Parts: sequence; C-alpha cells; structure tokens
Amino acid sequence: MTEQDSNEDSVDNSVSVTRHKIIFVGDASVGKTTIISRIMDNPYSDVYEPSIGVDFMSKNIKYHGQNIKLQMWDTAGQEKYKGLIPSYVRNSSIVFVVYDVSVKTSFDNIPKWITFIKSIENNTLVLCGNKIDLSNREVTKEEGEALAQKEGISFFEVSAKTDENIKNMFYNVVADLPTFAGNSDNKQNIIQELMQENGVENTEEGIKANDPGQKPASKINVDGESKPVEPAKGKKKNCGC
Ligand code: GDP
Ligand code: MG
Repeated sequence: MTEQDSNEDSVDNSVSVTRHKIIFVGDASVGKTTIISRIMDNPYSDVYEPSIGVDFMSKNIKYHGQNIKLQMWDTAGQEKYKGLIPSYVRNSSIVFVVYDVSVKTSFDNIPKWITFIKSIENNTLVLCGNKIDLSNREVTKEEGEALAQKEGISFFEVSAKTDENIKNMFYNVVADLPTFAGNSDNKQNIIQELMQENGVENTEEGIKANDPGQKPASKINVDGESKPVEPAKGKKKNCGC
C-alpha cells in the first residue's frame, strides 16, 4: 500500500484538523480509481490500470477556515482482494458503492456489495452509477434510483470521463459528515459554502433518490477527532480570509 499525497495541502498546525475515511468499492473497471482521481482534480486518462489491493489519497478541504482531511480509499474490485476490504471499511465515514451504467452485471452485483459492506459495519452508503457519457447504457437512471430507494441510500449518476456531477456528488456526500451535524446552516448552504471555499463552480445538477441529509449523523462513523464545524472565531462567514 502506498500513500499518494500529491494533493495534500500544507496544514496550519494551529487549526484543528478533522479526519474522515471514505471508501470506494464495486466491480473491477467500473471507474473507482478514475472517480477518485477526478475528485483529486487530476486529468482523465483512458488507460486502464487495474488497482492492486487497497490504496488511498488524501484531500484537504476547508470549511469556514477549518481544515477537513478526507482520506479516500481505493479498493480493487477483484475477488482475490476482497478480503482486504473489511479492515478499511471499519471506522470509515462513507462507502461509495460504484457500478458502470454500461455494464449490467456491475449493477446486478451491487446488492452483494451492499450486503458485504453491511456485514462489516453499518456505514453510510452511497450508490454511484458511473460512465453516463457512454451511449450504450445497460442500466437506466430509474433502475439506479429504485435500487437506492430500496436500500435507503443516496444515489448519484456521474461521468468521471467528462467530470459530470462528480464534484456535486462529492460535496453533497461530504456535507452529510458528522463534522457538519449541529451546524445551523441548511445542507444546501453547506454544499454551496464548501464549493465556494474550495474553488468549485457549482454548475451541476444533483441526481438524488433520497436525501441523506435527513439521516442521523450518529449513523456515520468517525475516524479520529470530529466535531461540528462552526465559523472560526473572529472570522466572518465566507470572508475568504
Ligand atoms: P476501477 O477498476 O473501478 O478502478 O476502474 P478505473 O477507474 O480504473 O476505470 C476503468 C476504465 O474505465 C478506464 O479505462 C477508465 O479510463 C474508464 N473510465 C472510468 N470512468 C469512466 C467514465 O466516466 N466514462 C468512460 N467512458 N470511461 C471511464
Ligand atoms: Mg481501480
């Protein structure tokens, strides 16, 4: 396992850092590594290099001047590496379960992935249908929504290739972290502020089967210290200082 901290910003030690583990699972080749790469603002590559074992990247984001460190754990979809996953799922905040909208079997395997994750820990799950840029769809948006409704989890369709809906999905999910529980802002405001503060233009539309914002924050596990983020003392909201 190697740490790829290329996007790690320098963190001001005088400011408290909140950490969360976010895991990506799903069949091989559905686009897990590419989605993480997009979240890290890396350019898209068509070259497929199967992931080996488990790897992670750290992304530091800011909210009201405070630092939030998100560790994104990338797992390999092959059966032979599945045994490695439980130890990473434990103490994680969120698990993205990813399928490829152009490969029906990757969608048919989603319930197995969900059962597998739930057998490890009762994590907050997010269903993600990737590759919506492709014209040869085998899974409709409605099928994805129906499965997410049935499982009681949130749902997004994205394209890691075109970057469509990636940042919107990411910040929607991040806004559900316990870090923001107890924050008086409503979820949409938190998302807007997160995007603004982290230099993301919000031009994307959310595709959601249900609103994970209604989920009690206590269902989300926390790795390391975490507390609701409030505007830093002496700083005005959105002042950018
Ligand atoms: P992983 O095995 O789930 O990590 O899948 P990868 O991220 O390695 O992607 C597998 C292949 O699908 C690679 O060739 C990627 O370039 C390609 N890919 C990933 N995301 C997309 C997408 O949104 N659209 C298209 N058309 N191809 C994608
Ligand atoms: Mg991979």
